[in-house]
Amino acid sequence: MTIDVSEIPAGAHLINGQWLQTGEVAVSSNPARPSQPVGEYSSGDASVASDAVGAALDTKVSWRDAGFKQRAAILERAAVLFEERADELAAILTLEEGKTLGESRGEAMASAETCRYQAAIIKMSSESIYPSAKPGETIRTLRAPLGVVGVITPWNFPVLIPVWKIAPALAAGNTVVWKPASNTPLVAVAVAKVFQDAGVPAGALNLVLGPGSMGNSLVADDRVDGVTFTGSVPVGFSIRDTVTARNGRVQLELGGHNPSIVFDDADLDYAVPMVVNGAMGSTGQKCTATRRIIAVGDVYDELVDRLGAAVRELRVGDGLDPETAIGPIVSTRARAEVAEGLDKAKAQGAEVVATASIPDTSDCYFAPTLLTGTTDLDIWTEEVFGPISTVVRVDSEDEAFALANDTVFGLSASVFTNDLWRIDRAVNELEAGLVKINAPTTGSELHVPFGGEKQSSGHAAREQGDTAHDFFTRTRSVYINPGRPRP
Ligand code: NAD
Repeated sequence: MTIDVSEIPAGAHLINGQWLQTGEVAVSSNPARPSQPVGEYSSGDASVASDAVGAALDTKVSWRDAGFKQRAAILERAAVLFEERADELAAILTLEEGKTLGESRGEAMASAETCRYQAAIIKMSSESIYPSAKPGETIRTLRAPLGVVGVITPWNFPVLIPVWKIAPALAAGNTVVWKPASNTPLVAVAVAKVFQDAGVPAGALNLVLGPGSMGNSLVADDRVDGVTFTGSVPVGFSIRDTVTARNGRVQLELGGHNPSIVFDDADLDYAVPMVVNGAMGSTGQKCTATRRIIAVGDVYDELVDRLGAAVRELRVGDGLDPETAIGPIVSTRARAEVAEGLDKAKAQGAEVVATASIPDTSDCYFAPTLLTGTTDLDIWTEEVFGPISTVVRVDSEDEAFALANDTVFGLSASVFTNDLWRIDRAVNELEAGLVKINAPTTGSELHVPFGGEKQSSGHAAREQGDTAHDFFTRTRSVYINPGRPRP
């Protein structure tokens, strides 16, 4: 597939409805074709972030007072535009991030679904009425918008993750300053353009492009009432400390180290493709990717053989090629970190069972790799954000559940079994925000709450689904009296 990169909108900030090219000119690169940059963008700084917060603050009252019906209508139009522009968005996403066109298109379509769902949800009341001890008094709750919300997002789902934060934030009447990851600025511009063209008024959604330090100034800004962040643990924790120190509200979605337990009664024809997809899909660059495979008892040998065979067959290449199953890693820097993780695992005694072959046309390709080893490996406990998964053998169900939970993370966990008692145990014992039975650790539905436990999330409200509004609203208790004695 050939894409005309001149069609991609110039990488500018969106502040108060104006596209501004302020700051240094930076280049957005294509991990599959290093010699063909995707385009240029303006990389801003703290003053750009501050201007965007000012615009969001100035628009806060008018957007709140626009009312739910107008906000819902705008989100419904955004849903239509995400569908109409799905191919264009997918092309830019694949060029910048590397994932396959099918995966990229899926993000655009899921964004449409999210906008439509969030538009519908705000038409339903989440407020309550309480009885009062006083004659004539009405007591009700009010869900007021949080105010100005900072949205900071990673590069691995550069369309869908921002939309599942921005759509409910806008729906609930907040104004937004969004800072996307610096690896994927141009697709962020295309997403912001969808909202602008759908009718989001000037200042209600602002986009600022730039490095992490710009995000830092956004979260430190007292005028920002809440920050919703998805990304790595260290950055997330530093954001939490900054925002909570100034008594702001923070929502974190961080790393994962997700296990799939395969029991000896599992149907391997069914389980193996799912485990491989969970581990290697999107080049292993999913927070919910299967990093740890726990084989229980006699299933170990056959499982390792069959997983290895499936990994060898994975077709790695340019995401624009329809035959490609696995794209490159997002950047040479990210690839170096994954390679370092693998080298360390091998030095600590991990055995490489299988790798897929990779093209030599870019330094960002990394061979999907299946390892076997023991729980002493660092890679068994630390998130390496790429297509590497490790199989460990245990002998009993008790050991399997204990090992699955033996991690600081708690994002997703899955089991493969046909035994209803084991399923019941998994549902009740696995310490993860997503528990998947006979399904990969990856994948979730947009109308269902999403989030992790332990270090995988902050302790604020869940994202997505009907719980998304909890973070973006303040509950107020309102007491209304008649104002004069009963005649
Ligand atoms: P990252 O933490 O490096 O960056 C995320 C965002 O934070 C980017 O926009 C970045 O520019 C910004 N940032 C960096 N330093 C900052 C600072 N000091 N202050 C404010 N903002 C700052 O993460 P990444 O490399 O883009 O993404 C990969 C990570 O994201 C992985 O750890 C993955 O597990 C996690 N992730 C989690 C989920 C989830 O839902 N739990 C989903 C996707 C990715």
